[in-house]
Order: sequence, then structure tokens, then C-alpha cells
Amino acid sequence: MQEYTNQIHRCFRCGYCKFPNNFTDLNCPSYNRFRFESFSTGGRLWLIWAWLKGEIEWSEHLANIVFSCATCRNCVEQCPMRFSDDIIDWIVGTRRDMVEKGLVLGQVSEFLDNIYKYGNPWGMPRNERDTWAEGIDRHTPEDEYLFYVGCAGSYEPQGQRMAKTINLLLKKGGISFGILGSEEACDGNEVYYVGEQGMFQELMNENIQKFKDQYVNKVVTLSPHAFNVMKNKYSGLGDTKVFHYTHLLHEMIQTKNIQLNEVKARVTYHDPCFLGRYNDVYDIPREILKSIPGLKLIEMDRNRDNSFCCGGGSGNFVFDLLGRSSDSPSRIRVREAYDTGAELLVVACPSCYCMLDEAIKTEGLEDKLIIKDISELVKESSKKDNDKKNK
Ligand code: SF4
Ligand code: SF4
Repeated sequence: MQEYTNQIHRCFRCGYCKFPNNFTDLNCPSYNRFRFESFSTGGRLWLIWAWLKGEIEWSEHLANIVFSCATCRNCVEQCPMRFSDDIIDWIVGTRRDMVEKGLVLGQVSEFLDNIYKYGNPWGMPRNERDTWAEGIDRHTPEDEYLFYVGCAGSYEPQGQRMAKTINLLLKKGGISFGILGSEEACDGNEVYYVGEQGMFQELMNENIQKFKDQYVNKVVTLSPHAFNVMKNKYSGLGDTKVFHYTHLLHEMIQTKNIQLNEVKARVTYHDPCFLGRYNDVYDIPREILKSIPGLKLIEMDRNRDNSFCCGGGSGNFVFDLLGRSSDSPSRIRVREAYDTGAELLVVACPSCYCMLDEAIKTEGLEDKLIIKDISELVKESSKKDNDKKNK
């Protein structure tokens, strides 16, 4: 981290990074939630600089400021300075320094301990990782793809629904694949962004070794978080290619391996940060939605690279330092979705699914706004086709 010390002061706290590109709203989720300059990018960077120079002491409050950044990359998109691409590295580098010195919050420490001991951030038993997957094929070296399900897909009810749905759709599209089941290890995306570099290296090595043992050439992930870390942070994957499941759904629709039928609905789509801002996948989910006849896509004011993060990034979907008040990012986002007049809020990430599902309930919008993963909509649309054929 010390290598960045001479860079950080170049942030002059102009505050551009707090907004979307038309300056109509506050787009840094932690600043929006707390409304203190210290929780904005510029304030955070200045505090980090002061800490590195020894001008301020570590405190729980400082750690709260550093770890409540959702690493959503809005600031990277909006900061006009040439160093903008380095902002997340500076924040993650500071977290690494704190983790190495044992200067972390209890919630963050528990999160990391659970992954270390149980292989998932909730501390659920390792051998329950595949209880959702009865009857689902385990990967064999003959399969074209390894379907990497991840922690949220294995343990969260919304993620399990996604995993089962994607399993059905891949089968319907004639793709050969299998899962690792209880042998699967955590992908390490959150561990990386929380700053536990040693544990990240171990998880990366464990996963890569498992892929090698199984002769895996192609991985398709359920979560954009796993997609991001494997594609951009794993070293040593060799020729193994990584896809997000929306890539495969898009391909199957284009090649007509999945036929879609009318679903009359007004929908709005929430861009997951690790799919959109981190990996520039904006068009594919929208093209999937537009290929469903009868579906009307209504964009929220903040979309694509201006999207507003649900607040769940870099471990916050578990330790949730952004809290559950009416100013929490997930609650703001579901109000924004509801205001479009859409009846369906569509997601493509199990963490966004959990965060926004809970926020819909907290906002009392259950009867007015239904949340679905994009795979569930595709399944609904393709099911009608099967039903017709079977008549
Ligand atoms: S990170 Fe960039 S946009 Fe944000 S306050 Fe600093 S200089 Fe301004
Ligand atoms: S990454 Fe997102 S939450 Fe973190 S400082 Fe930048 S805009 Fe704020």
C-alpha cells in the first residue's frame, strides 16, 4: 500500500465521483447512505492518506469508513482524473494493510473466519453446500462446461432458485455441463476486495487445482462476482475460459436452442456492478429481455455505467455496513425501480437478488413489484413453448 502513498493526495476532493454522469443524484452508495464527506470517495482517500502518513490513528470508525465502500466503481467511472482506474486498488490496498495488522471490524473478521473454517461467509456447514442440488449432474472431464455455483447460489434460497433454473435451461439448450457440488470452494471475489490477500491466493489455487483435476476448459458462473474474480484476478487459469450464465442464455436464444414465447410484462433491469462496471456486460442481459416477445423494458433513470449499486458489493451483502434504514442503497434502488411503473424488477446476480428482495419486503412493495432473476423469466417464456408442444 505504501507504493500508493504518493498518489492518493492527487485526489482534490472535487466530489464528481459522488454522482452519476448527469449529476442528478447521489451515486456513491455509502455517501448516499451516511451523507458525511468521510463516506464519499474523496473523504475516504484523504483519511487513508492521513492514516498512511501517521497523522491519524486507526479506529473502528476509520475501519467502518474504509470497509463500507461497496467497491461499486461508480467513482472510477466518474472521476475525471487519470488515476481514476486506481481508486479501487487504493481502497483494497488499505484494507489489506488493515487486515494484515489485524485492524478490522468484528463483522469483517467473522465473515473471513467463516470462509476460512466453513468455506462460505455465513458459517453454514461445508457438507450442506450441495443440498439444493439433488439430481443435478456432477462435472465429468467429458463435459463442455463446469457450472460454478458459488456460495450465494449454494446457500441462499434466491441463489438456489437461480442455480436450479439455470441448470434446467442449460439442459434444455443441449449444453453438457456439471457442478462440483460439495467439492466446490468459495470463489474468493469478496475475500479479494475485503483485502485478505493470503486467503484469496489459497482459494484461487484451490479452485484452479480443482479445475485442472477435472480437465475444465470452460467455466460458467452463476454469480457476476465469481465471473469477475476468475476472469480478472485469477492467475494460472491458462486457456480455461470464464463465462457468466447470461452469455450462455444469450447464445442459446440467438441460435434458437431455446425458443421464447410471449410474456406480457413491464420490466426494469438492475445492472450488477461486477457484471456491468467491472466487465462491461450491459447489452447482453438487455438483448435477452428484448428477445422475449411481449416484454417491455423500462430503464431506471440510473442504468448501465450510471447504475446505482444495491450496496451488497465486497462482502456488504453479508456484513451489511450500509445498514437497513430507508436510506440504504437497496431500499433506494427498489423505490427507483417501482417509480418506473414496471411490475417486475429483473436481476442477474444472486447477491443483488437477496439484497433487493429483502428491500422490497421492507418497503412493503411485495404486491406491487416482483423480483425475478433473468433466468427465471427466460424459463417462464420457454416453458410455454414446451407446454404447447406437449398438448
Ligand atoms: S476521486 Fe476523483 S472525482 Fe472523486 S473527489 Fe477525488 S479527484 Fe474528485
Ligand atoms: S466504489 Fe462505490 S461505494 Fe466505494 S467510494 Fe467509489 S462510489 Fe463510493
